[in-house]
Amino acid sequence: MTFPLFNAPAAEPSQFVGFAGNRIDRQSENRADDSVETALADPRCRLMLMGEGRIWLKLDGETFDPWFGLGESKALGARLGEAILLGFDAAGPVLAAPAGVGSEDMPAGIKAIDYRSAYMQGLIDEAALGALAQGAALHAWNASHRFCSKCGHASEMRAGGYRRHCPACGADHFPRTDPVAIMLTATREKCLLGRSRHFAPGMYSALAGFIEPGETIENAVRRETLEEAGIRLGRVVYHASQPWPFPYSLMIGCFGEPLNEDIQADLNELEDCRWFFRDEVRLMLARAHPGGLTTPPKGAIAHTLISTWVENGD
Ligand SMILES: [Zn+2]
Repeated sequence: MTFPLFNAPAAEPSQFVGFAGNRIDRQSENRADDSVETALADPRCRLMLMGEGRIWLKLDGETFDPWFGLGESKALGARLGEAILLGFDAAGPVLAAPAGVGSEDMPAGIKAIDYRSAYMQGLIDEAALGALAQGAALHAWNASHRFCSKCGHASEMRAGGYRRHCPACGADHFPRTDPVAIMLTATREKCLLGRSRHFAPGMYSALAGFIEPGETIENAVRRETLEEAGIRLGRVVYHASQPWPFPYSLMIGCFGEPLNEDIQADLNELEDCRWFFRDEVRLMLARAHPGGLTTPPKGAIAHTLISTWVENGD
């Protein structure tokens, strides 16, 4: 590629995406089987309460507080037996537990907000969003792996929620992270953006797809771009990643160098896919496009890829 995208950045690009601001000290090497009990016995412990894709937030003046004390958590019916130890911060141990109260009978001053809105609307700070990504992914994995995949017996949570043990056959199971490649195909002049049918009206984004077993990140980027847009890629370069708790993905953002121009969009996957010149994309990023076209908002890794390309081409 000829445009200067690949000079070492002053700070890692992954720092500038949503869900990436986790500052919890995980102390992963010290996770004992009783680590949740030990953490809950610490009077300084704080919990994030979540369930059914939503996080419980406490209205604190004009802002939302995502952390609850042990007493508050019990009063809200949190299922402490399924709590997960996220780790430790300066104030003590931090955990995430399934919330007990249904959203229809929420106490005054507490709201259950879906993860996406908490992220899109900036309701909690970057560090808390990072903790949310960790807790939401672990709860989703534990909830969907209640039975041993070797023998079918009920499995038990261990190691603070980072392992499930089967008492029947002795197998241990570990949390999954599903890698998704998201890629901006670009030359100096133009980049390739597409839109799915479920996107907000007018929004175009970078193409994306799951990385398959036995596949490198680079080959997944080339395969997905060829399948979805009919564009063959040469060089592929990693740029940034983003924890994505829907339910437990890691978005891996790359740039790709196109080898052909003629798009053949897979209309089962995409409603539209086309080349955009830099000036048009700049207007889309600024929400000033005359036709109302937009990119994903700041915080989305697609936004990071697209804005990095726009800013580095002048
Ligand atoms: Zn088993």
